[in-house]
Amino acid sequence: MKRCLVAGNWKMHSTPAETEKFLTRFLPLVRASQAEIALFPPFTSLDRAGRLLQGTSIALGAQDVYPEPKGAFTGAVSSGMLAACGCRYVLVGHSERRHVFGDGDAIVRRKLDAVLAAGLDPVLCVGETLDERRAGGTYDVLETQLTAGLRKLELALAARVVIAYEPVWAIGTGETATPEQAQEASAWIRGWLGRTLGARPATATCVLYGGSVKPDNARALLALPDVDGALVGGASLDPDGFAAIVASAEA
Ligand code: PEP
Repeated sequence: MKRCLVAGNWKMHSTPAETEKFLTRFLPLVRASQAEIALFPPFTSLDRAGRLLQGTSIALGAQDVYPEPKGAFTGAVSSGMLAACGCRYVLVGHSERRHVFGDGDAIVRRKLDAVLAAGLDPVLCVGETLDERRAGGTYDVLETQLTAGLRKLELALAARVVIAYEPVWAIGTGETATPEQAQEASAWIRGWLGRTLGARPATATCVLYGGSVKPDNARALLALPDVDGALVGGASLDPDGFAAIVASAEA
């Protein structure tokens, strides 16, 4: 079976009490799962989630980070703080960070470097807007975002980066990329990895698809040859639905 990471990005949802309620229902549903699962609650629920996930194989992740290690950065959270909460993964460059909060490629790269320096694994999110796709610019956007995110990164560090292809027009919209579109973009990303970093990163890098993944479309997306898993937003908030998506990864 290929490596399959099913990640749930809870965005700005779930208090610590709601997190506990979710996990009480979810953990028994996925106890026997062979898929790798990661949950990305908001910062304020990380500690509670981390405690409840101890002794399970489910990884904890954070939705964002600030690149500096500590200091006068009011409201910010460092990679070291996330590591201390038990995180393994951190999302960098999620489209909501890029488009709502204005994160550009330069800060995305600083975040990625900080995550790696703290011993955590970044999930680098890349993807085009609808206008960019319609203008035929999908691969230019991917090239720019991948180049900024991974250029001149040591191979040993690049090997720890997960890439999530998330077309912006499919995130939170209910409009999913077709399996053909998801496969084509993921294969293109592997081609870029091969040209830029070499043959091993092209095959070994975990490439996820994200954008309105649901229990009823997950199986077709997760079966694609160049898709190694899913980054799931809205549908990861329902424990039964998210467990059904995890089960699709094993089929
Ligand atoms: C996401 O937040 O990364 C995402 C893909 O959201 P949704 O599944 O709701 O489209």
